[in-house]
Amino acid sequence: MRELYSKALVLERKNAGEVDGIISLFTEDFGKIVAFAKSVRKPTSKLSAHLQPLTFIKVRFIQRQGPRDGWAIVDCLYDDDFSGLDAPRRSDMLPIVGFLNLFLFEFQTDRKLWAYIRHVFSRRYEYSDVAKGLLVIMGFDPAKADCLSCHSKEIAAFHGTDQIFLCSSCASKLPPDRLLYL
Ligand SMILES: [Zn+2]
Repeated sequence: MRELYSKALVLERKNAGEVDGIISLFTEDFGKIVAFAKSVRKPTSKLSAHLQPLTFIKVRFIQRQGPRDGWAIVDCLYDDDFSGLDAPRRSDMLPIVGFLNLFLFEFQTDRKLWAYIRHVFSRRYEYSDVAKGLLVIMGFDPAKADCLSCHSKEIAAFHGTDQIFLCSSCASKLPPDRLLYL
């Protein structure tokens, strides 16, 4: 049975079945992993509190066999480096983890991005600075961009799948779920 172990940041949690969950994580060693979490919504679950967006954890996965193959979370602990920090309460940062979940591909390790994410979540940066820095790391520099639609220099958002910058007026015409506001 294959097993993986890594530090990770929880990006998103979705319900599956009656009591199970699907958890999206950005891991240090393997990039994004989407994994099954059995019984995570039962009140007795030991994993539930750890598997919330914005939480830094150390996590162990096993590869599932059979018709529902893929990876499952079997164990996790809080990452001690983040104890006492307020990362899980930075709800203003939820658009950042939502964007990572949308933008990252599974099993593409990105240690530079991992180092950046750990750095910004261990300090009290403003959301806007974190969002701009994230785009620079990903190769899209907001400082040099203008709105693709109207060429305004006043850019307000980045479109995650089209990979374009937009001003606030042009961005407001698009569905918000694929936009990272700056
Ligand atoms: Zn525009």
